[in-house]
Amino acid sequence: MHSIEALQVAVARLQGRFTLRSLGALLARAGMPNGRVDRPGGWFVRQGWTPRPGAIRPRPLLSKPVPDLPSPKVTRYAEADVPTPYGTFRFVVYREDETGQEHVAAVRGAVRGATDVLVRVHSECLTSEVLHSLKCDCRQQLDLGFERIRDAGRGVVIYLRQEGRGIGLGNKIRAYALQQEGYDTVDANRLLGFEDDLRRYHVATEVLRDLGVGSVALLTNNPAKLDALREGGIRVSQRVPLTIAANEHNRAYLEAKRLRMGHVE
Ligand SMILES: [Zn+2]
Repeated sequence: MHSIEALQVAVARLQGRFTLRSLGALLARAGMPNGRVDRPGGWFVRQGWTPRPGAIRPRPLLSKPVPDLPSPKVTRYAEADVPTPYGTFRFVVYREDETGQEHVAAVRGAVRGATDVLVRVHSECLTSEVLHSLKCDCRQQLDLGFERIRDAGRGVVIYLRQEGRGIGLGNKIRAYALQQEGYDTVDANRLLGFEDDLRRYHVATEVLRDLGVGSVALLTNNPAKLDALREGGIRVSQRVPLTIAANEHNRAYLEAKRLRMGHVE
């Protein structure tokens, strides 16, 4: 590396005046091996180096799903009635043709052609739903979704297999490690080189189309999900909020979702 560029890097690091991408570009220009940091397992992650909290320059939030990706085709693969604490649901499994990735819709009652059908589009969260993590509110949201649908007598929970807002289980736990150092959920994901939210909802629109739902009353606190479904051609008649009480572990997370990712209640 040329000394002047090494100096620029050092100064940028000290002042915290960089975004991950701009620093990655600077390192790449300076010829540093693995200078890219805008991808999982980038240079800083592997070196165990992280900038101090607050050192990341804020940039526009990207809480909407990533656009311009081709819509995955899904095929209805299997279905059966399954008893749950919320009554019997028909579990309908869909497979993405290209990847074989499986998703499931839990359907209660007759939804084909019906309007204002309660729908929860829920992204997998193994850590809270199975392993009892209290760091997020996913499990409570899922349970509340089932409860509301039971009470209404009709509805759909679409369970999408996209762990950790789409970054995967291992990277989600890496983000938790960064959060232990004081970063919030958005900055932690950015440090790992991910956009704020990689979740995609194309599968949900395909599933709703296949089920023939006339119009959707969407159970969510995330307005971006409404936009995503509408952009996918689904009629969304209203948003139904899911109010979850914070606990001492997820208070900061819920606050970050509200303040930094546009979630409302
Ligand atoms: Zn979660």
